[in-house]
Amino acid sequence: MHRDFGNPQRDAAAPDCDGLVDGWARKLANDQPAHASAVTRDEGPFYCATCHAEVILRKGAERADHFAHEAPRHGYSGGVEGALHRACKQEIHTALAAENPDGRWEVERTIPARPGLGIAEARPDISGRVRGLPVAIEVQASALGIASILQRTRTYAQRLIHVLWIVPLREQLADDGIRPRLHERYFHSLYLGRTYYWWPGLAATVLPVHYGASTHRVPSSEWYRPGIGHVRVGGYDAAYRAIKTPYCGPRLQISQDFAPRRRGPFIPENECKAVPACDLWLDRLAPWW
Ligand SMILES: [Zn+2]
Repeated sequence: MHRDFGNPQRDAAAPDCDGLVDGWARKLANDQPAHASAVTRDEGPFYCATCHAEVILRKGAERADHFAHEAPRHGYSGGVEGALHRACKQEIHTALAAENPDGRWEVERTIPARPGLGIAEARPDISGRVRGLPVAIEVQASALGIASILQRTRTYAQRLIHVLWIVPLREQLADDGIRPRLHERYFHSLYLGRTYYWWPGLAATVLPVHYGASTHRVPSSEWYRPGIGHVRVGGYDAAYRAIKTPYCGPRLQISQDFAPRRRGPFIPENECKAVPACDLWLDRLAPWW
């Protein structure tokens, strides 16, 4: 059977996901179904109801309006990203298990659902105990979107497990301008102004990064306009919206430098979706930026 999409080509960015067929996705702001023909980009972000990844709205003359999975970052293949994710889990697990021999550290342990209490099953990337406190570490390489992150954050809070979301990188963070993705900005709000990055070799340590404003000079210019006179614009610094200056804190040990922190629900500045109550594994530093 032919869909009226015309082009039968699979979605190259997510070859295993059928979640976007027939032009449907969900709106992040309210989780309601949205059809590509009935919404504009301004109503986004949107995500795939099947895999929870962010999706892009495409409108054009050649194909019917549709949603597409976001292309992998930096042209990574899924395999490279998957390998990084696995390496990160293994390296952190090995180090934490050595540092906390009584902590029962495991990779991808299944924590059963408790349907009577409305609590979903959880399967943290890495989990165990530090000083007797339950900690779940989630390595967010970008495959899933905000809806899934918030859902899992809620599940951990219901279970009183402290969650640490980590963003894995292939190599050390660049120290000039960075362009944080949506989930990195959500982590920044969640953890009171820092996002935790990891790259190979860091073992059970992470780098906390604050996103500062990044500015550019708007050149000054002046001209004469009849009836108005001299007009002058520019001559000041303006902030980029998407580009941030990273302010790196000191490297932190997940076992030593973190403590539990409970937060009530809130709506992050400049974002559309509320964050539920959460139980965080948060560093103990005073703001360093
Ligand atoms: Zn999908």
